[in-house]
Amino acid sequence: MNSDALKRLVIATRNSHKAGEIQTILGKGFQCRTLRDFPDAPEVIEDAATFAGNATKKAVELARWLGSEISNFKSSISGAFVLADDSGLEVDALNGAPGVFSARFAAMDSGAMENSTDAANNAKLLRLLENVPLEKRTARFRCVLALAPLEFKNQNSEIEISSPVCYADELELRTEIFDGACEGRIEFAPRGQGGFGYDPLFVPVGFEKSFAELGDEIKNRLSHRAKALEKLKARFNSHDQ
Ligand code: IMP
Repeated sequence: MNSDALKRLVIATRNSHKAGEIQTILGKGFQCRTLRDFPDAPEVIEDAATFAGNATKKAVELARWLGSEISNFKSSISGAFVLADDSGLEVDALNGAPGVFSARFAAMDSGAMENSTDAANNAKLLRLLENVPLEKRTARFRCVLALAPLEFKNQNSEIEISSPVCYADELELRTEIFDGACEGRIEFAPRGQGGFGYDPLFVPVGFEKSFAELGDEIKNRLSHRAKALEKLKARFNSHDQ
């Protein structure tokens, strides 16, 4: 691949904050679309037990759907990859919760699959940590990215039968995973207006301000997402050689 060529990505998210961070961190060498450009794309149920499982599911299902819409999209996204981010917060005093349930933490008690508001999630987190002292409020943001190639081909060739009871999903096997984590602690009250999600409560190691106070430039240098995206960029750079 020519290193000057634009790398084309379809980012599998409708979360504009997340998409904005990814585009800013990736920079000029990448041309990105998001699910907002494909309003008919199916909603993916994030029911895997791990970030990697959910990220892979999102990337593969969107790649498969885009591939099936060949007549509509081929010229605009041929040679592209689908990039899915699954991320969340792991709090040590809560045995790693909310983890994969970060987006629907407040609503999950009622079995809901829809996302909760950031304010409701933050309020629940503060309530659960009410009596936890500062030194035990350690936590980390984790991000797993899944990169699936977008190919326009006969849908029947997607699945390779390897045994009568088990099959290998070719697209899933070709999906690459990149991860990143950012260590920190949970504050006693929300602070700052920037970012999204749990940012007003999360203070990264080495700082006294929350991600929401530190602003985009600093967050995008140290975040879990930035670390995973650095690995993704290195992958594309090594394929350019
Ligand atoms: P996802 O869209 O299923 O990956 O949900 C991720 C959830 O984790 C978001 O809704 C946020 O609550 C939380 N989260 C992930 N990354 C961040 C971040 O960078 N800052 C704050 N919260 C985050």
